[in-house]
Amino acid sequence: MSMAFSEIYGNRRVKEQLREAALSGRAPHALILAGRKGSGRSMLASAFLEALLCPNRTGEGEPCGQCPVCVKLREGCHPDVITLQPDKPELISVDDIRGQINDTAGVRPWESAYKVYIIPGAERMNVQAQNALLKTLEEPPDYVMMILMTEDLSLMLPTVQSRALKLKTEALSRAELEALLDERHPGEEEGRALALSFADGCGGRALELCGDAEFAALCGKLVALLKELPRLDFGEITMRVRELLAYGRDPQELLALMGRWYRDILVLRCTGSVEELSFRGEKRALLELAETIDGDSIGSAMKEIEKCQCRMEARAGDEACLRYLCLCLKEI
Ligand SMILES: [Zn+2]
Repeated sequence: MSMAFSEIYGNRRVKEQLREAALSGRAPHALILAGRKGSGRSMLASAFLEALLCPNRTGEGEPCGQCPVCVKLREGCHPDVITLQPDKPELISVDDIRGQINDTAGVRPWESAYKVYIIPGAERMNVQAQNALLKTLEEPPDYVMMILMTEDLSLMLPTVQSRALKLKTEALSRAELEALLDERHPGEEEGRALALSFADGCGGRALELCGDAEFAALCGKLVALLKELPRLDFGEITMRVRELLAYGRDPQELLALMGRWYRDILVLRCTGSVEELSFRGEKRALLELAETIDGDSIGSAMKEIEKCQCRMEARAGDEACLRYLCLCLKEI
């Protein structure tokens, strides 16, 4: 993946700081890019590298996109940009850090002024691995620069954090998400409303959801279940729950969607504002529910959803958990 700053939507403050760091000639030895999946961390890192390394960059840090450096960066084969490949996907071990970073950092870059190490999913480093990384971070050769990408900054040791420039990705506004979808999914009306509602400010997630017919179908089935719940008996609830799980998506995603449904009812009760609804297409049904369900009951529904989340995390059976939740919600 590759991008220039000008091609990236939103994240204005982060782009400014990265641009400044790339152009200043005093790039930090370590950079931590924190933010959710789909929030643009990889694109920002690519734009930063192009601004840093392209010999023809403009005064605004825009790369030429055509020189051998840009081409190698875009094809992911620049010899001075190394992406850490841990032995086990779920853990970055002390051996990974020693073998791939500490033991190679002493070798000068082949063709650039910098030797760049990229660590995706840096939160997978355990304490020992982070301490090993500190060895290089404490006295880095002039040319070494590291880019750590993480979903959770709090999992990085304070000693690592204090040696890095820390940047957090920003949520895209609704207008920015709309512009992004207009550019990448022009004319795609189906799924657009859902993508805007459920992207939560993440451009990557908006793009993913927009073309995702399965997600739209799942939302439709879930909403139908919640609307019809008071009339359904045990057997019908079991069948509907099985149907939902048959989509094979993370059951936690289902619970999050259910939570959004009750949140919508609450929003309508409190503010009457349709603008803030996640399920805008269900305005009429939600308005009816907002008139019949009181605030306490909505609170109970949300608590039941949270409890279900805990049970699933404790690895109770998904189907049994969801069915039990539906039976509780039915009484609300
Ligand atoms: Zn270039």
